[in-house]
Amino acid sequence: MDMFDFKNGRLFCEDVDVNTIAEQVGTPVFIYSAGTILDHFDKVDRAWGEVPHLICYAVKANSNVAILRLLVNHGAGMEVVSQGELFRSLQAGADPQKIVFTGVGKTTAEMEYALRHDIFLFAVESLPELLRLNDVASALGKTARFAVRLNPDVDPHTHAHITTGRAVNKFGLDPDSTIEAYKRAKELSNVVPVGIHMHLGSQIVSGRPYIEAVQKMLAVVERLDQLGTKIEYLDLGGGMGLIYRDEQPCTADELIGEIKPLVKDLGMTIIMEPGRFVVGNGGILVTQVQYVKEGPVKRFVVVDAGMNDLIRPALYGAYHRILSTRNVGPEMIVADVVGPMCESGDTFAKDRRIPAVRSGDYLSIMTAGAYASSMSSEYNSRPKCAEVLVRGDQFFTIRHRATLDNLLCNEEIPDFLGQPLPEKT
Ligand SMILES: *Cc1c(COP(=O)(O)O)cnc(C)c1O
Repeated sequence: MDMFDFKNGRLFCEDVDVNTIAEQVGTPVFIYSAGTILDHFDKVDRAWGEVPHLICYAVKANSNVAILRLLVNHGAGMEVVSQGELFRSLQAGADPQKIVFTGVGKTTAEMEYALRHDIFLFAVESLPELLRLNDVASALGKTARFAVRLNPDVDPHTHAHITTGRAVNKFGLDPDSTIEAYKRAKELSNVVPVGIHMHLGSQIVSGRPYIEAVQKMLAVVERLDQLGTKIEYLDLGGGMGLIYRDEQPCTADELIGEIKPLVKDLGMTIIMEPGRFVVGNGGILVTQVQYVKEGPVKRFVVVDAGMNDLIRPALYGAYHRILSTRNVGPEMIVADVVGPMCESGDTFAKDRRIPAVRSGDYLSIMTAGAYASSMSSEYNSRPKCAEVLVRGDQFFTIRHRATLDNLLCNEEIPDFLGQPLPEKT
């Protein structure tokens, strides 16, 4: 379910007219529905039911601190991949005992920061990382709880750029190396194993890869048990897919219903780290048409959002539905919807049938809550756009449109080049 719907020919987010937000806040603007985001979180949470579980939202999907606070207030834990994401989570008020730190390249500084804040769990992805974690914890007089990230070598049948659980991917350890890491940990005094981790990739639409991977994980858990290492937490990662176009992803109930029988009697706590599933349907990117340009072989609808705001089409060839935010009449056109940037990849849709919009009309790029704003950049010196959160009949700016001064805020002109930058106002 999402809460973006047409009323009298105008697109609403919950009970707010999207056109009103675009007029007041300007474009491009990301608009999020609080109700939709919480509903999706609940879907995962409820599906586990009586099985002890912790849902750690994957911060990288959408890292706005207000979105994090919305989820924190709702009981969510956080899955973070950097010191920056951990900082954001703590600023949002997340309980450190519900934070999992994953990622292949944790630096010493990141480990120190996480240990000082007593996060719940480190997902360790290599033996050298485990050794470093032990050293860093030891220097701080702390003990780090860890889970080894198992690379189960299953194919999730998703886009190659977002596949992470195959042997050729840089993530995690194969089963034998995973066992070796836990064995090695027994000789280390400042790390303690509490769980085992996996994450297969993103935008996975079927339960099969999960089942296959969980079976492999449980085989490893059994071997660990024989070695006297008790696993209390099974972290199954994220990856649940969405409908962008015509995908038919299994629902949270279906997916978790399939996994549950395998794990529910083990007496373990399940951790899941959904990102895309929680926020993806909960956001749109509203952009204003600047020009309709008739080329010799194509028509282009040039909008004011660019690949710096939403890079998924350029990066993955991703499909996003594009709707007009108000009824502009029955006429349809076929066009490429493109941004203003100096890259041919700056294209949101090719040969797309859309309503016959004109300069000044708004278009809504749908399913833009995940891996959209959080992947945005200032390429072409385009200040980052605004973000708005809707709750019921109210809306709140949760990120102000960046200013031109913001573009230069960490830059400096050295003396030998003459005049410094004017004092910022
Ligand atoms: C990216 C990531 C997630 C979230 O993936 P989604 O597909 O957005 O659910 C969860 N866990 C880890 C370790 C990740 O890297």
